[in-house]
Amino acid sequence: MVDKVFITGASGFIAQHIVKLLVSKGYFVIGTVRSKDKGEKLKANLNSPNFKYEIVPDIINEGAFDDALKSNADIKYILHTASPFTYDTSDPEKDLIIPAIRGTENILNSIYKYQPNAEKVVITSSDAAIYSATDEQNSSLSFDETSWNNISYEDAVKEPIAAYYGAKAFAEKLSWKFLNEKKPNFKLVTVNPVYVFGPQAFLNEVKPTLNVSNELINNLIKIGPNGHFDNDKGGFIDVRDVAKAHLYALEKDELIGKRLFMTNGHFSVQMMLDIISSNFPELKSKIPVGTPGSGPKDITTLASVSNAKTRELLKFDFIPLDKIVVDTIAQVFEAKAKL
Ligand code: NDP
Repeated sequence: MVDKVFITGASGFIAQHIVKLLVSKGYFVIGTVRSKDKGEKLKANLNSPNFKYEIVPDIINEGAFDDALKSNADIKYILHTASPFTYDTSDPEKDLIIPAIRGTENILNSIYKYQPNAEKVVITSSDAAIYSATDEQNSSLSFDETSWNNISYEDAVKEPIAAYYGAKAFAEKLSWKFLNEKKPNFKLVTVNPVYVFGPQAFLNEVKPTLNVSNELINNLIKIGPNGHFDNDKGGFIDVRDVAKAHLYALEKDELIGKRLFMTNGHFSVQMMLDIISSNFPELKSKIPVGTPGSGPKDITTLASVSNAKTRELLKFDFIPLDKIVVDTIAQVFEAKAKL
C-alpha cells in the first residue's frame, strides 16, 4: 500500500516543494489549502493522481482539521507547515501569535482523536524559536539545536518581529509538551529553518512580489541602481534542502525527537548583490552597487551558530548561497519571459 502523508498549508512556498518531492517519491499526499482555487492550482501543477486537497479555510477555528482527518483513513505521516509568516501587521497577536498557537493545537488534537495510529508528525518550526531577532544579531552569543528564545507573551504582542519569533517558540514548545503529556502513538520531529530562499516549486508561482524571505532577493532587481536597500543579514538555507529535511524526518528513524536546525551559514544582502552582479553582467548597471566585497565583514556581527548535529544526522550537503541566488533570479526572469 502507498503511504499516505497529510500536509497543512500545502499551497505555501516551502510546502509546495515538500509536496512535489513527496509525490515524486511515490507517496500519496493530502494537502490542506484555504480555497478551492488554491487546491486546483496545486493539483494542476502537480499533475499526479497521488495528490488530493482538503479545504481548511482557517487553522485557528476549533476542530479546523477534524473533517479532513476524519475523512481520510490510515494516514501514516503528518506535516504541519501552515503558519503565518509576515511582518506586515498592526495586530501581531491576532495575525501571528494566535494562528501559530491555535493551528498547532488544532492539528495535534485532531491527530490524537482521528488518526491515533499515525506514526510521525513533523512540525515546521523556525530558527525564530531558537533565538530572538535581537540575540541573533549579537556576536557575543552562540546557539545550536538545544537553544530557545526567551520571548515572553507580553513582549511578543508588542510588535510583529517579536510576535513572529515568539509565536514560533510558543507553537513548537506546545508540540513537545503535547508529546510528553498526552503520550500519543506518533513520534515528533521539528524542522527549524533560517531564512529560506530559492526558486518556487512551479514557474507559475513566481509573482511580482514573492514571499517574505525571497522578496529580499527579488527586491534587489526591482529597486534600480539608486534604490535603497537595507543590508539585512542572517542565516540562509535553500528551500530544496528544507523540503528534503522534511522527507528525511518522515523516513529516517534516527531523526525522531530531534530539532533539525537548517542553516548553511550567514548572508548579507550585500553578498547577494555581489552574486547577482558577477553572475548576471547584464544586470550590473540596473542594481545598486553598495559596498562590494563587504559581505564577510558584515556578518561578523552576528551570533555564532552550530548545526553540526543536524548535518551529521541528515548527511547531505546544503546548497550554497551563490546557487540559491542565481537560481532564484534566473527563475524570476524565466517567468517574466513567459508573460
Ligand atoms: P507561506 O506564507 O508561503 O506559507 C504559509 C502557509 O500557511 C500558506 O499555505 C498559508 O496559506 C498557510 N496559512 C497561514 N495562515 C493560515 C491560516 N490562518 N489558516 C490557514 N492557512 C494558513 O510561508 P513559508 O512557506 O515561507 O512558510 C511555511 C512555514 O515555514 C511556516 O510555518 C513558517 O513559519 C516556516 N518558516 C519559514 C521560513 C522562511 O524563510 N520562509 C523560515 C523559517 C520557518 P495562504 O497562502 O492561503 O495564506
